[in-house]
Amino acid sequence: MGSVCVGGDNPIRIQSMTTSSTRDIDATIEQIIRLYDAGCEMVRVTVQGKKEAESCEGIKNGLIKKGINIPLIADIHFYPPAAMLVADFADKIRINPGNFVDRRASFKVIEYDDITYERELAKIEEGFAPLVEKCARLNRAIRIGTNHGSLSDRIMNRFGDTPRGMVKSAFEFARVCRKYNFHNFLFSMKASNPVVMMQAYRLLVAEMMKLGWDYPLHLGVTEAGAGEDGRIKSAMGIGALLLDGLGDTVRVSLTEDPWDEIEPCKKLVKYAEQAQGKGIEPFEETGRDFMSLTPREVLYSPPFHEKGSVLTKKEGGYFVGNDPVPLNQCIIFSPQKSPVHETRQLVEQLKRSGVTLPLFIDLDYTCIIQSGMEYGAILCDGLAQGVCVKDEQFGLNLLQAARMRMSKTDFISCPGCGRTLFDLREVSERIREKTAHLPGIKIAIMGCIVNGPGEMADADFGYVGSKPGKIDLYVGKECVEKDVEFGIADVKLIELIQSKGKWIDPV
Ligand code: SF4
Repeated sequence: MGSVCVGGDNPIRIQSMTTSSTRDIDATIEQIIRLYDAGCEMVRVTVQGKKEAESCEGIKNGLIKKGINIPLIADIHFYPPAAMLVADFADKIRINPGNFVDRRASFKVIEYDDITYERELAKIEEGFAPLVEKCARLNRAIRIGTNHGSLSDRIMNRFGDTPRGMVKSAFEFARVCRKYNFHNFLFSMKASNPVVMMQAYRLLVAEMMKLGWDYPLHLGVTEAGAGEDGRIKSAMGIGALLLDGLGDTVRVSLTEDPWDEIEPCKKLVKYAEQAQGKGIEPFEETGRDFMSLTPREVLYSPPFHEKGSVLTKKEGGYFVGNDPVPLNQCIIFSPQKSPVHETRQLVEQLKRSGVTLPLFIDLDYTCIIQSGMEYGAILCDGLAQGVCVKDEQFGLNLLQAARMRMSKTDFISCPGCGRTLFDLREVSERIREKTAHLPGIKIAIMGCIVNGPGEMADADFGYVGSKPGKIDLYVGKECVEKDVEFGIADVKLIELIQSKGKWIDPV
């Protein structure tokens, strides 16, 4: 795409997205330069309509004048004419197969028999082929960027709101590209839940292999949030795939300044490169005697938590809470070179030997990205019962990100873009302060209504910017309060949580 090659033997590329209004050409150029200086290799801007598409010409020219040669990616939802226009200036167009031709999903049950489905496919070709032809002519790239939270009604009714549905959705568009002999495209399969995201990418790759396809992958976890939790979620989803050799570009999407995303990306790329060639087949013999690690006689039992436990490492051994861990009741495994692959191998051996003791993984990393990456691949696949770490809260955060054990509120918040209607960072921090003590509750904070309701996917409650100064509040996928004044929206959100019986007073 433009000056940067992606896929094959090329390095894993780092990307991010601006949060300025795309119409504000100077502000967007300024953000792009800051990203470029931080090490970002390609940058996405939101393109809602023709005005934003036209601004991309100014942005591109402004960058060239300043000697910055970074590929520009236009992010398109709902409006193909903007894609057609911006293809003149952008190096890559990201389309969302859930809403490029289809309207926003109604989440209604609709019957799609084979004839109706074929008719819908013809509509996709009619809507998408002109862009494919234009991109072929101008040598632009396309990302078929599927989002778990914005699948079409057609896909959800036929294949479900599932990784399979995500892959089918992407393939509907990939087939059009291939029919027009256009191969300069790649896929993404993002979700805010790293487990769903990992499954979707793996299924996509498995299906591609069956078809003999080999298109590159852009990896990301959507709406991961901010701070340590956002970094862990992203590291788990992206890192687990990178450790298996999947992924060609990455974006760590955080509700922070765009340039804050670059450092975690660099770390993921670095650790993925270090891991190259160290993978082990689950059944390969390495000569290491895993069985000598552990006594085998006792089955899984308390004191461990049924949904996953954190063993804290202190002087004197491992502890659950303040109690020393009964070492004859579990297996504690410290992998040596390639944690995820060695753990898979151990689990296979334990299974074959009929050993059912809970397995805990002890990784001695200080970097949260590296921990998230390795633990993520192990926990999200359900290979271990828990983690051994020095800081108990960090361990609980790992279990929460892997959706094993929810010990606090789960926040899903979008990174913000040119569509954002309020100060996302400030609002997210404020809501987090007031509601972080509700285990098992998922709260989504989304900057705009265009993608917000769909992208927040599986949240219990949603806070979504609807227009300047106004907020829509959601319970699940249903908007229950429209256009609430921004100044009172926090209070209304808390009242809503209380009215559904989900509120507990902070200790
Ligand atoms: S939900 Fe957030 S990131 Fe997504 S389009 Fe709206 S403001 Fe941008």
